[in-house]
Amino acid sequence: MSLTTEVSVSIEQQYAVTIGTDLWSDVRSFCSNHYSLNKLVIIIDAHVNRLHGETVRRECSAIFDELSIVEIPRGEQSKSIACWNKTIDAVLKSGVERKTPLLAVGGGVTGDLGGFVAATALRGIPLIHMPTSLLAMVDSSIGGKTGINHETGKNLIGSFYQPDAVFADVNYLKTLSEEEWVNGLSEILKYAAITDPSLFDLALECVDSGFRPNELWTKIIGESAGIKSDIVSYDALEAGRRAFLNFGHTFGHALEKKAGYGTISHGEAVLVGMLAACRASNDLGGNVRPEIFDDFIDLYSIQLDKHSMPIDGLIDAMKHDKKVQDGQIRLVLLNEWGSPYLHTCTDDGLLTDAWNFAYRAINENT
Ligand code: NAD
Repeated sequence: MSLTTEVSVSIEQQYAVTIGTDLWSDVRSFCSNHYSLNKLVIIIDAHVNRLHGETVRRECSAIFDELSIVEIPRGEQSKSIACWNKTIDAVLKSGVERKTPLLAVGGGVTGDLGGFVAATALRGIPLIHMPTSLLAMVDSSIGGKTGINHETGKNLIGSFYQPDAVFADVNYLKTLSEEEWVNGLSEILKYAAITDPSLFDLALECVDSGFRPNELWTKIIGESAGIKSDIVSYDALEAGRRAFLNFGHTFGHALEKKAGYGTISHGEAVLVGMLAACRASNDLGGNVRPEIFDDFIDLYSIQLDKHSMPIDGLIDAMKHDKKVQDGQIRLVLLNEWGSPYLHTCTDDGLLTDAWNFAYRAINENT
């Protein structure tokens, strides 16, 4: 007779995302309640370090006895095996222990790399995100995806590793370039499309108020962070609903890939992708007005030329997206605003029409 025993493991992790201004006293009380305060490792983007490093060092050294600061070069190239290697080397040599927290200060690149370093050092040390770009505040700092790129594709090495807390101080955005504001705006428009179209109006008010931190932006960052945390709380490992966050992204990733990374920004590609996804949605009986994006298109400086980027090449790139399942493209489409669903696409005609529409919409509005 064989003996079978079953035990159940229930792992839950909750954490707060705090959005506002002057958050250092919140950081101080959080750290005092959770850590021993003898040492903190800080991973910081080089550009953010130049602009805000002095304040970060001053505030953190008032909380912790010892700081180890690791600066990483700005830009996507830091999400590499070489940079992970260099960073974890510095972290381990600094004498980090299992309970030493790591604070990642910067945009999505720093959060993804810093998070992966935290996940892999000593099988996991505590992580705090301090996002400094709009995109990182509304998207990448929430949900626990961490990782780096591989020569065969973006974000192919990584893990789900949740932070203990996220502190998004909107005052960091004072120094953010307009291009980076617009990058983050695309993700906000995505939340509007998949959950709550009233966010389009608020986004327009934000844009009209200028690209500088104010109450409107704080409100929309809070609402966006709330949407992202709701979605990932129900589906931490992307088994279902979390996939809706890819709205516009399957088209967008193909565009980024074919244009060459860096030629077109992620935010621009996602905007084009959302236009294409709206058209495909309507072709399948949905009811969304892609014209809603017209108010935003001229904020972007998108160069789209069908001759240099033929549609069959884009469709081919979609077929090789890492989110393809069993060789089939999975699109996030909309029945109407706020009502997304997953569609397995086997019809190149649908994709061609969607791309044609997006090209026209961009070229008529820029
Ligand atoms: P980023 O980290 O490269 O930041 C963009 C630029 O803004 C950089 O040059 C940076 O130096 C600068 N910057 C950041 N904060 C600043 C500030 N306060 N003032 C002045 N300049 C500042 O890129 P990003 O757009 O923040 O994030 C993109 C990355 O996020 C990509 O690698 C993407 O794959 C990843 N991402 C991850 C998730 C996730 O769930 N983990 C989600 C979306 C995107």
